[in-house]
Order: sequence, then structure tokens, then C-alpha cells
Amino acid sequence: MRSFSTCPLCFCNTATQIWKASCSEQASHFLNPLVNRDKYEKLKEHIYSLQKSSNVYINKCEECNFVYSFPYIAGDKKFYDLIFSNTNKYPQNRWEFFKSIEIIKNSKFRNPKILEIGSGDGAFVRKLVNKRITTKSLITAIEYSKFGKSKIEGFGIKCLSIDIKDEQNKMPYNKYDFICLFQVLEHLDNVHKLIGRLKKLLSKNGELLIAVPNEKIIEFNEINGALLDMPPNHIGRWSKKTFIKFCGLNNLKIIEHKVEPFSLKNFLFMFFSYRFLRKAQNPKSIEAFIKYKLNKNLVPIFTIILVMADFLFSPKIFLKIIFSTAKLGGETQLARITNEKYKIKK
Ligand SMILES: [Zn+2]
Repeated sequence: MRSFSTCPLCFCNTATQIWKASCSEQASHFLNPLVNRDKYEKLKEHIYSLQKSSNVYINKCEECNFVYSFPYIAGDKKFYDLIFSNTNKYPQNRWEFFKSIEIIKNSKFRNPKILEIGSGDGAFVRKLVNKRITTKSLITAIEYSKFGKSKIEGFGIKCLSIDIKDEQNKMPYNKYDFICLFQVLEHLDNVHKLIGRLKKLLSKNGELLIAVPNEKIIEFNEINGALLDMPPNHIGRWSKKTFIKFCGLNNLKIIEHKVEPFSLKNFLFMFFSYRFLRKAQNPKSIEAFIKYKLNKNLVPIFTIILVMADFLFSPKIFLKIIFSTAKLGGETQLARITNEKYKIKK
């Protein structure tokens, strides 16, 4: 369906509506009412107060392919406090960590100054130090979660909990050789303001390394009954075309765009767990019963049985996976972006 909303990225006025969700559907995506009815009601109310609309629409811009939520409003601290618990685990070995380390290692910079925005518990910055890419004192991390910040500071790396877009916030260094955002950009609104600040913080020939989910995998998941990419957690879905348009509008240059290699094992694990979780969002489903009502000791075994049954009894999906998913690539895409201004002078 045609939608006449304005693309937050290229400001074009025509988009196609992909799907829509009510605030209750949004809330139950993140927190099942069977787990905590009160918290679920609070979350639903909070999502409404953020969006000021009882529905959210997912639109795809016809000009730049950016898929964005309408209203285009990011989740705030209260939203994340409601949906995350302290036991959340941060992934330690993401593809983009190793790819970025390779890029930094092969660059002309020796002991580069590195800024990471959204550092989690510091998995990437720790790797930078352990692999002797640079020294602790040349790294700055930005992280909001108290748990993450304390882990990063405990390792001896400076960690700030600031809004980088706000120019009033002083940074330890005026310029950085690499600015990394891994799985961050898809959560944020005001992306032009953000990139304006990052450009000023980038040294001559410095690079932005930006990793976001592979939009082709998200699309496959959504069409085939796995989890939806629900706002206000993810509010923007990027693609190579989107990055190119975005860089053009901001006088930046994309020097490389890479997609994580496809792995059948990772794909099957991700896809069938996401299908299970999507079904479990319906409180009347057998999946919801297993996940939320069953004796805790029995949950893993019954989950595996249901996932295996789904795998065996979905021949159409199985065929689709065999014939089309390898082309989609892995779960992440990485863009290397540099300041056009400096490149022209060279
Ligand atoms: Zn657009």
C-alpha cells in the first residue's frame, strides 16, 4: 500500500507500507503479558506516549529503500529499562568486530584513536587492546548501561554515558581515526544530526565503521513467520542503497560495503528460534505455554521438540531456505565511510 509519509533519511514523500502494529502488539513483542501483566501494561502505555499514536507503520522509501517506522521515534531509557533485565548477555565474537580489526590493522594509522558508540560490555574495545591494535588511553567508549560502563571502566578504558549528538558534550580527543557503531544506528532517530557530529570528530582520512543488521535477512524473517523487526527498538532498516544516499546527502563517501558470509548453521538456529518466539507472542499458543507456563526444567527439551517439529513439518520454508537464503548473506552488513572533503583535497 502506498503511504505518504516523509522519509527521515532522504526526505522523499512516497513510501510503501510494509506492515503496521498496534501499541499492544508492540508491547507484547518485547514483553509477554503472561510474564508480567503490570510491566506489560506500563510498556504499552510508554510506547504510546513516545509515539503519540496507537499504531506504528513500517514504510519503505521508494527513493532510497530506507525502511523506517512511522512515527520515526527511537526507544528511550525508560523503554529499554522496561524490556531489558540485568541478565542480558552481550555477544562477544561478532563478525564485524573481526572485520573492523582487520580494517584498522591494515590502515596507515599506527596507534589510532578509536571511539566506539554503544560499546555494550566492551567486547570490541577489549579485543582492540588484547590484539595490540591501539592502547587503552587512545580508546573512548560510549555506553548507557551501568553494567556495561562498569565493565569497560574496570578494564581501564574511558567510558562516557553521554548523547554524542549534543555538541556541548566534550570528548577526551577532538579527532578520532576510527568511529565505530556496531548494531546501534538502526535504533536511533535524528541520524543526520548524529552524522553531522561524527563528521566533525573524524580525523583526516579517518573512517566510520558502521554495522547494522542485513535487511535481506530481516525481510526473509518477517515474510516467513519469524520475529518482526519491531519499533521502537529498531526504527530504521538500512541497505547498501540507503547508505549511498545517506552518504551523498552528508558529503561523505562510502569506500566499502560488506555483508557477513552466509552460514547455514547460524541461519537455521536464528530462523527457527525466531519462529518459535514469534508464535510464543500469542498467549494462547502451545509455544507460549511452553515458554511461560511449563516447569522451568522441562522448557529446553520441549522447546527443542517444537523447533524440530516446525523444521520437519514446514517443507515449503525448508525449500525456500535451501534455494534462496545463501544469496541473502549473513546477519550483518558493514559500511566503511570516510570524509569526502578530505578525499577531494588529496
Ligand atoms: Zn528515502
